[in-house]
Amino acid sequence: MKTVLTAKKPKQFDVIIAGGGPAGVLCACELYALGYRVGLVDAGEVSARLEGLAPRAVQLLQRKGLESALQAVSDYQARQVSWGSLRDSANGEHLVDRPQFDALLRRSAEQRGIIGIKQRIVRFQPNDQHVHVHVAQGEPLLARFVVDARGRRANRMEHAKRAPKNVALAAWLQVAEWPVGTQIIALEQGWLWSAKAASKRDVWVQLLVDAHTLPAQDQLAKTIETAWQQAFGMKAQVLSKPVVRGADFRLHQTWHLAEHILPIGDAACAFDPLSGHGMFWAFSSALSAVAVVNTVLHDPSLERTALCAQFYRQRQTETFWRQARVGRDFYQASGQQHKFWQQRASWPDQQPIDFTSVSKPIIFTGPAIRANQIEATRLLQVPDEVSPVAWFGELRLVDTLEACWNWKKQGQVLDFESFERLCKPQVSQAVLMRCWQWLHRHHLLDRPIHA
Ligand SMILES: Cc1cc2nc3c(=O)[nH]c(=O)nc-3n(C[C@H](O)[C@H](O)[C@H](O)COP(=O)(O)OP(=O)(O)OC[C@H]3O[C@@H](n4cnc5c(N)ncnc54)[C@H](O)[C@@H]3O)c2cc1C
Repeated sequence: MKTVLTAKKPKQFDVIIAGGGPAGVLCACELYALGYRVGLVDAGEVSARLEGLAPRAVQLLQRKGLESALQAVSDYQARQVSWGSLRDSANGEHLVDRPQFDALLRRSAEQRGIIGIKQRIVRFQPNDQHVHVHVAQGEPLLARFVVDARGRRANRMEHAKRAPKNVALAAWLQVAEWPVGTQIIALEQGWLWSAKAASKRDVWVQLLVDAHTLPAQDQLAKTIETAWQQAFGMKAQVLSKPVVRGADFRLHQTWHLAEHILPIGDAACAFDPLSGHGMFWAFSSALSAVAVVNTVLHDPSLERTALCAQFYRQRQTETFWRQARVGRDFYQASGQQHKFWQQRASWPDQQPIDFTSVSKPIIFTGPAIRANQIEATRLLQVPDEVSPVAWFGELRLVDTLEACWNWKKQGQVLDFESFERLCKPQVSQAVLMRCWQWLHRHHLLDRPIHA
């Protein structure tokens, strides 16, 4: 990454991405592809660690042309689960060497033409024309829009909806004869994730405990070694300085889109690592943010900005609650009784994972993404799905439904063939079939819904 920009004049960008982790890099690349002048500012402070990458995140990187970063990603590894009475090895993950992975992602961004700046951001200062991005050394950078991708360290992050406080202690461990792959084990005081990549001799071990039980600095290594012995009944020796990271659920609370600053990734919504999908959600929020930034830069009117804020806040909030409930159910499934487990098995509430406040299908006008822009469109919300639906591929869902109801009102039989004719011809057979089945599953073709 390039170092400090020394020019006397402040550097101006359309968009500055603050933070070059997975979310920041993907967002930078997508905005650059839309024709924006993008600066990617990163302090280069990723601690040495292994993490698990979900296969769908690997596919996303391939689709987005970021496959060079997969050099830092292992083959798929099975995960051995020992979670209360549950013993399972049906799932797995790819292992990611994060410092190498993040550096490769940033290199890939720079190779496309994105300007990489190695700097520590101190603060953002919005004014009428630009957001000033103050950095530790040199003149502020200027941008029409700032995407805050600084992860959990984003200083505007508020923690009103924080879950029980977690910390993860992790280190490299020397263990005799250990198999390649990952293990997750529920212990009394928390849970332990261990990972061995084929390319490494040592094992990465991460112990997640309640922040209030975090031992003193000089006891961290001993705590990890003891947890290992508890989990596997064998001794091992910590080889590296233990890393301590905050690891609780967090949701950004104030969405100042009118100031042209938008948090993404962990800076918007961060999860308990038990989800194992933090990076995937970070990528996913980066993709929604692209449509938001693109829309606001094209049409900065208050009305459109408010629509974008509504869209983005809803997406983040839905993801947050859904993942929090998924986490709660995992903690419940352990069957453990210790305080650590009881607190997490009852947070955030007792609602089902896909809880929504609607009891029957409704149609309403709200924001949705269309061709990298946020537009107001008619949406359909069904009771057992968290998010309302606007489109099936190229098919506008509510228009399609209305065409079906009209067809039936004329006394015609609605079968798949007539459904095909009622839909636009450019829609693929696969999308049509998916839509047809979805409409049936939710009994939406039976009778009209009144908006
Ligand atoms: C203990 C733990 C274990 C996890 N395990 C997994 C896992 O196995 N699988 C998984 O998918 N997810 C896991 N996660 C979640 C995953 O790490 C995050 O979701 C993901 O890294 C978020 O990406 P991001 O780009 O939003 O932020 P980050 O990856 O945090 O990137 C932020 C970037 O911003 C930069 N930055 C920060 N502050 C500044 C500043 N002031 N100026 C300039 N640059 C700055 C940093 O250098 C960094 O490059 C885990 C999280 C924790 C805490």
